[in-house]
Amino acid sequence: MHLSLQDWLKDQLDQLRRDSQYKTPRFLETPTGARPVIDGREVINLATNNYLGLANHPQVKKAALAAIERWGVGAGGVRWIGGTMQVHNQLELELAEFKHVEAVLVFTSGFTANSGCIPAVLTEKDVVISDELNHASIIDGIRLSKAVYQKSEGWVYAHKDMDGLEACLRKAEKQGFEKKMIITDGVFSMDGDIAPLPEIVQLAEQYGAFVMLDDAHASGVLGKNGAGTVSHFDLHGRVDIQLGTLSKALGVVGGYIAGSQALKEWLINRGRPYLFSTAHPPMVAAALIASLEIMQTDPEPMERLWANTRWWKNALANAGFDTLGSETPITPVYVGDEAKAQQMERLLWDEGVYALSIVYPTVARGRARIRTMPSALHSTEDLELALNAFKRVRDRLTGPA
Ligand SMILES: *Cc1c(COP(=O)(O)O)cnc(C)c1O
Repeated sequence: MHLSLQDWLKDQLDQLRRDSQYKTPRFLETPTGARPVIDGREVINLATNNYLGLANHPQVKKAALAAIERWGVGAGGVRWIGGTMQVHNQLELELAEFKHVEAVLVFTSGFTANSGCIPAVLTEKDVVISDELNHASIIDGIRLSKAVYQKSEGWVYAHKDMDGLEACLRKAEKQGFEKKMIITDGVFSMDGDIAPLPEIVQLAEQYGAFVMLDDAHASGVLGKNGAGTVSHFDLHGRVDIQLGTLSKALGVVGGYIAGSQALKEWLINRGRPYLFSTAHPPMVAAALIASLEIMQTDPEPMERLWANTRWWKNALANAGFDTLGSETPITPVYVGDEAKAQQMERLLWDEGVYALSIVYPTVARGRARIRTMPSALHSTEDLELALNAFKRVRDRLTGPA
């Protein structure tokens, strides 16, 4: 039977609406921050990843403007064909020093760093063992690879379950794969908890596997000056591949792979998004150099981020909300039911709080939540107002406690 594209799209969209999965973006009328104007009203923003407030920082903007004057607005090519300017190279050298690794290669986003790196380092003779809550870009990277990974074959372990991981490693050992890669988020993007990296690294060493760590939400948040999960646990030299994002705490856009010089050279030759997609505008690299400089010299934004994080988690817990064991600024407020979470999102918006519901399939069915993220920019007053809104919305949905 003939089905037109338009009819098919309409059916699919109706289905999404019925399943409470339909998304529509809202439009910001100001720079991002603690209190942006969105769709015509000023709201308290708890939805975004500008952890340190660098996305609109005067020094970062100044660096970007100077780079436009010096280099123009576009790189003009992919990185290996005339698209690598000195500022791209300088950013990679500074990131490598910051991460205490031999070399760093920047991709245009964290997403493309995952989808470029994972298939490049795995073959059909390899297996990849993955935490069940790993980020979508990890899953897509794995799907693009030829490695053995299917969940049905048991290569996905229950969230942070080290017995489950060890069982996978034991099974992999018996099957004689050439390489075994364990891959995990450092900070899990929907639950805000931290991977048990010391145990993961220890198991990897015991079973001759290697580790890839996606540190998108740990960059600028955990470790010395925000150097990430490896720094947080002092595991330098024991994680083979680290991914960082330049889009969240660093406030601009981009992703990178940190590791050995050989890894960098391999990805220059085999990382498909690196090979076939245009380099960042030079102003992006210049802005990121400025962000990195601020992170390494001014401890205050990270201190404020963590003070706000502690305040917010404490206040939510005292008010009886379940934050699902989160340990970082990512603070889920557990709801459970998908439709109720979406209703809560709408009521919070009416109260002047911008925080989004996260529902299936991003998280498991029946595990819907409102995801909140305090940043260095929020004042205690912002957080107090947001807390009161959460309480009022809960009372409206369930009747007073
Ligand atoms: C956000 C995120 C990414 C993608 O990073 P971008 O730079 O935004 O593309 C990758 N992995 C994880 C775990 C993330 O949270």
